Amino acid sequence: MSGNQVRLQAIEQITNRAPKEVAQTEPLNQIWAMDVFNLAKMEEAVSKNAFKAIKKTVKTGEALDNATADIIAAAMKDWALAKGAKFFSHVFYPMTNITAEKHDAFILTNSDGNAINEFTGSLLIKGEPDGSSFPNGSLRMTNAARGYTAWDPTSPAYIQQTANGATLMIPSVFMSWTGEALDKKIPLLRSNSAMNEAAQKVLKLMGEKEVAALDSSCGPEQEYFLIDENFANARPDLLLAGRTLFGAAPAKGQQFDDHYFGAIPARVQVFMQDFEDKLYKLGIPAKTHHNEVAPGQFEIAPYYGAANVGADQQQLLMTMMKQTAKEHGFLCLLHEKPFAGVNGSGKHVNWSVGNSTQGNLLDPGKTPHSNLQFLLFCGAVIRGVHKYGPLLRAVIASAGNDHRLGANEAPPAILSVYLGDQLEKVFEDIKAGKLTGSTDGGEMDLGLSQILNFDRDPGDRNRTSPFAFTGNRFEFRAVGSEQSVSGPLVAMNTMLADSLNWIAEKLEAALKTQDQTAAVITVLKELMELHGNAVFGGDGYSSEWHKAAVEERGLQNIPTTADALPAFKSKEVIELFTKTGVLTAVELESRYEVYAEQYNLAIEVEAKLVVDIAKTKIYPAAITYVSELTLASASTLDLGIELDSRIAKQIAEHINGLLASIAKLETEIAKHDFVDTEAHMRHSADIICPLMGEAREHADALELLVADELWPLPKYSEMLFIK
Ligand code: ADP
Ligand code: MG
Repeated sequence: MSGNQVRLQAIEQITNRAPKEVAQTEPLNQIWAMDVFNLAKMEEAVSKNAFKAIKKTVKTGEALDNATADIIAAAMKDWALAKGAKFFSHVFYPMTNITAEKHDAFILTNSDGNAINEFTGSLLIKGEPDGSSFPNGSLRMTNAARGYTAWDPTSPAYIQQTANGATLMIPSVFMSWTGEALDKKIPLLRSNSAMNEAAQKVLKLMGEKEVAALDSSCGPEQEYFLIDENFANARPDLLLAGRTLFGAAPAKGQQFDDHYFGAIPARVQVFMQDFEDKLYKLGIPAKTHHNEVAPGQFEIAPYYGAANVGADQQQLLMTMMKQTAKEHGFLCLLHEKPFAGVNGSGKHVNWSVGNSTQGNLLDPGKTPHSNLQFLLFCGAVIRGVHKYGPLLRAVIASAGNDHRLGANEAPPAILSVYLGDQLEKVFEDIKAGKLTGSTDGGEMDLGLSQILNFDRDPGDRNRTSPFAFTGNRFEFRAVGSEQSVSGPLVAMNTMLADSLNWIAEKLEAALKTQDQTAAVITVLKELMELHGNAVFGGDGYSSEWHKAAVEERGLQNIPTTADALPAFKSKEVIELFTKTGVLTAVELESRYEVYAEQYNLAIEVEAKLVVDIAKTKIYPAAITYVSELTLASASTLDLGIELDSRIAKQIAEHINGLLASIAKLETEIAKHDFVDTEAHMRHSADIICPLMGEAREHADALELLVADELWPLPKYSEMLFIK
């Protein structure tokens, strides 16, 4: 079958397909968390004392003793076996954004030939996958050491159902034998404790007597595309790189804004409900779903929860989404920019910090006192975004996200923070010395009462800001759709910890001579003088901002991953992570190496695909068509028909252009002798990417010239609009 036939057949198959039949399921409250070994199930299964111990661990992160671990392991095993589980697996989260798992059978055979179901506390607590092939940025010499997984009792175990069985999945950390973090979970747990410690100091200075452990929370909004699998199978670029490397813009794109919040296509709706049933069973609170801006693009936003659990659930959600989409005949694309010319996909990470005694510290409270605490925490975030903007950019850097940031659809690659008019005014007044904190003047009260009546859901949401305050939380909007939320959460928690430590020191000094309100205002005034430049409420897409941000505000515009990742090696960032105990210098360096390698690999795969598809699909189609035209012109001349020779000429030009770009690309791909990782990244960003763009221009021009029936790749109009 020739290439174009594959494409035409795909269209036919899709046009004739019926939605997948799915059985009606039980009501949501009956399936909710049925496959999760959560606290409620533990309470039923273990003694009061054991439950008390595990509950304390879950709530505060405190270590669990071995005896209790044994009791929990036994209960967990019984529960899993009763649900038909034959295997168990430590699930862990290597630095590469993926979810990794190694499965073991519960069964053990003993010497008299019988089989028993074996699972002890020590098996639960520690696993030993042969992790030597996970990228570790040279943290762990592959020949010398093993990687260990260890149960994270603060994230609930769950059952993963397959058609013929079930596996008990145990969320775990992954570390080297020397105790270095090889994963994304350990830093997240550490960043939570660093934030907790610093927040405790500030709250105690504010006179709070009882302060429960603070935790960070995460509410991720996941955008994605669904493409029919028949199209995907005819597009090697979608299958292997997750995005189209070629494809001319269709006559109709998203310019009518008719897809956003529009009616969800029936087939997609069936998929969504099936997918969400699975999420509910796994205790993932899938709350809202809707169409997104681009045709074929959708969003799912689960309800927020504890950051550590939220991060695990988000990984599981991505896995389930891809799996379920497949069952429904779709390819689910999580790439940040699968299609040029229409919006890409992001993952907004909504984040706040709080505890059971003071509540959400990013929620302006009902009293002037809680407002002061709110202002301090909010100020701490402002300082963090300003001081560690390059770090925030680095943790969202990837080959995919580079296509999205800075384009006119997603936040710019300049990190600023949006507060909303009211709050921005309060901080401006503090900076200008208008709010002095004097107890006798009316002005102070005015400032605080403004916040007291704070509009929780301001209508003027600024969608152009990468980092926005949205009433009771911050929303990090620049995160990529394919990324783990852990990196961003770690960066936010850690920068907050650092800022709160800074605030605690200043506040302690100020409180020696001033009353509480005045002291808070003094500290915030200094903070705003140093870091107020990061606050920006205007249009983040505008070219004026791009200029002003850099020239007047001293902020950095960091366009590519190659520019962003070196932040991991900067003095400030190393100091931040080592001082807070979240990552050692060695762990930080290893992250730089792994992320840089991922970036270079992603671009290399794309470049090879560009060469391959151009040579084996596009060039043959174009050549076939020109030869047909040439033959036709010979025979039609006799009939007196004047053929449009411009078309043949244009095709010839673009074929030559394509071949020239491909030749250059091949030469560049072959280069491997770079002095260091940074030089390699620069080569990817500055040489390979532009050459891929050059090849694409010619190929896309050819798509608009070559006869439709000959074109080998499903077109944008087909992939995005035929459902
Ligand atoms: P929008 O698209 O308007 O930003 P959504 O409803 O799609 O809003 O998503 C908002 C996300 O923020 C949800 O996941 C929600 O649960 C989460 N969220 C709400 N409050 C908080 C909070 N205090 N901390 C963290 N996440 C929150
Ligand atoms: Mg949002």
